[in-house]
Amino acid sequence: MRPRGGKYGAMKQRTFEQSLARGREAEVAVAEWLRRRGWGIVPGYDYTGSDGNKGPRATFLSRKLIIPDLDIFKSGKRVWIEVKYYTYAPWNRKLDTNVHGIPRYYYEHYLEVEKESGHPVFLAVVEEKNSRLLLGRMSQLTPYPCQCKSCCSGEPLHCTAALRDGVYFAVGEFHQFVGEFGQWKDTRHRSLGSLAPQRNAS
Ligand SMILES: [Zn+2]
Repeated sequence: MRPRGGKYGAMKQRTFEQSLARGREAEVAVAEWLRRRGWGIVPGYDYTGSDGNKGPRATFLSRKLIIPDLDIFKSGKRVWIEVKYYTYAPWNRKLDTNVHGIPRYYYEHYLEVEKESGHPVFLAVVEEKNSRLLLGRMSQLTPYPCQCKSCCSGEPLHCTAALRDGVYFAVGEFHQFVGEFGQWKDTRHRSLGSLAPQRNAS
């Protein structure tokens, strides 16, 4: 059940190194964009080790959680952000809309990170074709239901989908910021803080 044109989001034909470089560029641009909005950044990408390819993990006694690219804070709010760079949002025939996706394995880790840390995890998609940045809180995006036989017949406990398969979200569920690369503007004058209300401290 993959949208055409790429594995999770669509990528132009690029070498692995080129894709990695574009991904890193997008991370840096989003971090800079956030800094200009007053956020402090703990850039996970500075600590990815020599292969530059393995994201940081939070280590617990008996498990590890993959943590998102950016850990940011401002005025009492703290948010995690996973940054993806995709060329465009492929059309999904069943969902009847354009979608972006991430591997299920990561999705599940990020939901755990939000649960354990108490801080929202956002997915930020830098999309080349429409010159936009899409932001959505992962736990509030609706994952497109798995299309494996078991799930379709109402037995999700026997799901046969591989963890490397993608989880897809409709583009319309994301908040949209439009503009040149790194210069995205919110057409509705919302701040990231307002997208990520913290629970009332009481
Ligand atoms: Zn399934």
